[in-house]
Amino acid sequence: MSVIELTGKSISSKPLAGKVAVVTGGSRGIGATIAKLLAENGAYVAINYQSRTDCAEAVVKEIEEQGGISCAIQSDVSKPNDVKSFMEEVKNRFGKIDILVNNAGITRDRTFRKLSNEDWNEVIDVNLNSVFYTTSEVINHMLEQKFGRIINVSSIIGQSGGFGQSNYAASKAGLIGLTKSLALETARSGITVNAVCPGFIETEMVGEMPDNVKEGIISKIPMQRLGQTEEIAEAVLFLAQATYITGQSINVNGGLYM
Ligand code: NAD
Repeated sequence: MSVIELTGKSISSKPLAGKVAVVTGGSRGIGATIAKLLAENGAYVAINYQSRTDCAEAVVKEIEEQGGISCAIQSDVSKPNDVKSFMEEVKNRFGKIDILVNNAGITRDRTFRKLSNEDWNEVIDVNLNSVFYTTSEVINHMLEQKFGRIINVSSIIGQSGGFGQSNYAASKAGLIGLTKSLALETARSGITVNAVCPGFIETEMVGEMPDNVKEGIISKIPMQRLGQTEEIAEAVLFLAQATYITGQSINVNGGLYM
């Protein structure tokens, strides 16, 4: 019996009441903010994380203190067997999956000539292959229930390219192509597939950049500031509720790429 049946807890006045969402890499940064916003709007939220159990548990605790229902499961998105057991556990626990947010991602920045096979493969595995694995685990289920929202967190770098980021840019551009193709294949079945392309957002990923690089980036952003994780989460929430938008990439980048 699923948690929903067991608790009977549903937050009926909220827009995502009764919906079950999975957010990969939901233990910190953009993913944690997405998980919390979806839960605040009524969804039951499962997150996975790679190693930071403390961070993942803190996200679940925060959601539950606000009256939501959530769980965190350790699972490496680049490993198909890990993904399979993660998704099965979510389905057992909550009974279904309605919203899949493919957020987990990494960078291994090097100029092309210095890029090793490992740098290339690791980024493609975590950022792109993982989305094939997670989506493969939910697609038949979403087709059967004739409802699904798949939201892929891509990047401005997948659109514009980035110096020292050919592996990352290829993975994020690949996500945009996957988004459009899957949108075409599922549009008649109540499923929408969209991407969100963040610009430069204030998280650990951007925090690791040297100050002078960060300042150089900010000076080129028309809005003259980094984005906040909440601003990405708002776009994801919008796409989770939208009914006539599919195959799109929504740019949330302060005007840096138009
Ligand atoms: P972050 O490093 O703060 O968080 C990344 C999350 O992914 C973490 O929760 C981490 O545990 C998880 N993760 C990484 N590898 C994993 C694996 N193998 N298995 C399971 N989980 C794994 O990064 P962030 O800035 O919050 O980025 C989130 C997403 O947004 C990423 O896909 C990133 O590429 C994208 N993005 C970020 C920015 C930015 O400026 N921060 C810009 C554009 C796109």
